[in-house]
Amino acid sequence: MELDMLNGKTVDLSMPVWAPGSYLVREFPRHVERFRAFGASSVPLRHLKISKDTWRVELEGQHRIRIRYAVYANELSVRTSYIDDEHAYLNGTSVFLYAKGGLKRPCTVKVEPYASWKRMSVALDPTAKNDSWTVQADNYDCLVDAPFEIGNHSIFHFQAAGVPHEVAMFGIDEYDSLRLQKDMMRIAETCTRIFGTHPCKRYVFIVHHLPSGGGGLEHENSTTLQTSRTTYNAESAYTGFMSLVAHEYFHLWNVKRLRPLPLGPFDYAAENYTDLLWFSEGFTAYYDDLIAWRCGFYSDEEYFKTLASGLSYCRNIRGGSVQTLSESSTEAWVKFYRPHENSSNTSVSYYTKGAAVAFLLDMQIRERTAGRKSLDDVMQAMYERYFKSLNKGFTRADLDQMCTQTAGVDLSTFLSGLVDSLSFPDPADALSVVGLSLKDLNQGSMVAWSGITTNAKDGKLTVSAIERGSPAWDAGINVNDELIAVDEFRLSDDLTKVISSYKSGEAVEIILSRAGTIRRIKMNLRSNPNVKYQINRISGSTKADHSDTGTLLSVDAKFRAWSGK
Ligand SMILES: [Zn+2]
Repeated sequence: MELDMLNGKTVDLSMPVWAPGSYLVREFPRHVERFRAFGASSVPLRHLKISKDTWRVELEGQHRIRIRYAVYANELSVRTSYIDDEHAYLNGTSVFLYAKGGLKRPCTVKVEPYASWKRMSVALDPTAKNDSWTVQADNYDCLVDAPFEIGNHSIFHFQAAGVPHEVAMFGIDEYDSLRLQKDMMRIAETCTRIFGTHPCKRYVFIVHHLPSGGGGLEHENSTTLQTSRTTYNAESAYTGFMSLVAHEYFHLWNVKRLRPLPLGPFDYAAENYTDLLWFSEGFTAYYDDLIAWRCGFYSDEEYFKTLASGLSYCRNIRGGSVQTLSESSTEAWVKFYRPHENSSNTSVSYYTKGAAVAFLLDMQIRERTAGRKSLDDVMQAMYERYFKSLNKGFTRADLDQMCTQTAGVDLSTFLSGLVDSLSFPDPADALSVVGLSLKDLNQGSMVAWSGITTNAKDGKLTVSAIERGSPAWDAGINVNDELIAVDEFRLSDDLTKVISSYKSGEAVEIILSRAGTIRRIKMNLRSNPNVKYQINRISGSTKADHSDTGTLLSVDAKFRAWSGK
């Protein structure tokens, strides 16, 4: 690494401790080793490690210096870096150092590929037409917001919304590129329609195919997606992947450009707190499935099932009565990203509840405006105002105001009731706006329930989680207890089946082992208080809204406008 135009006695060089988009301090400097600094004619310069992420170099009158360091890269996730003899995947935040006060300087990266590697996919411009291995970025933020895929991956291209797209496919030899092109194009165009314009000159998808797992991370002009190699063999897995594509693509606007005030410019040395992740992530999560549905990847029934599952979560999650959505956002660094066996009792997901809030808000706006406006209008207006016109981050008050302006009525209390309170409303009224009905499949059930989640391994059945306020919670059963028997029934790998053979109101004796001692605990069973929603479309809902403003839309017409059909 070379730095020029330096002045003063010393320069401080740091490695970020986190990667924007993934709200956890990952301590990337822990993988940096063999740091050396040199001046002109390779004269060694002294340096001192002054903190966990910073090296201070003594300039000794030099204005141009060279730094050598190595990075151990052996973690193939969307937020980290990995190199082996097959490929290199580099995330700038875990590879490139920045000079204190020098974030705005332009950067050039020259890659020396491993002997047999032929290709590099990265959303940065080459410095010269005939040198595809040297790329440049306007500044450090742009540099580290463009991951590199280097090796022998396959590439296909397509044009969507007037923008050239490159797709780098690593870890798979055979796939239907025509189908992928067509479907990714549809997502790109559906997203662009919501915001009105596409912000990129060029866009790059990096897709890693792995034995299992999945996830993605958004970037300024690209994304990295990880998915299973078997994604293309099963329709449900493929639909899930399309929803992931839609999620990361939607972030191009929501969070990469339309961003909460604290999320840029980034402080790479510490946590960057915002209480708006429920908007940046949750609203994006609402749109990922909605877009997959609007594109035709989900059938109506499949989409209703997904929506019902999210709404059920919001009504059931015990952590929802402990942590508000705005707290969940601020605490993401220590809670959402550091889950443990008690997380569901103490925290709520800003993805799932944020998506449900987006749905309720969308329905509220459609109802208040007799179907003339929707959340799509809020998203576009927010993007126009805070990114395109003002080019600054937005605040909660700005969002409240835009919702109010779009709906024509004050929505700040409505939003606050969802985001700053510990309750979640019955969603039946919201669903009725677009002609959907709600049913609780658990209602009236007398089947007994314990509130225990188990893990069966090596012939042992252990408690992995206990719902707050459940029969097991009240009886004093603990996580890690090994369950042996219920009354006279020896347990092997299934507790739910045994418990559900009892009736609500009956008592059982649980025999368990805790810390090497056998215990007998009495548990009073109750029926499951959690809802299990099912959503259906009410056929023939043609009733028009009563409103004295503008055109009236029938419920069916509102459904069509929402679903894009
Ligand atoms: Zn996201």
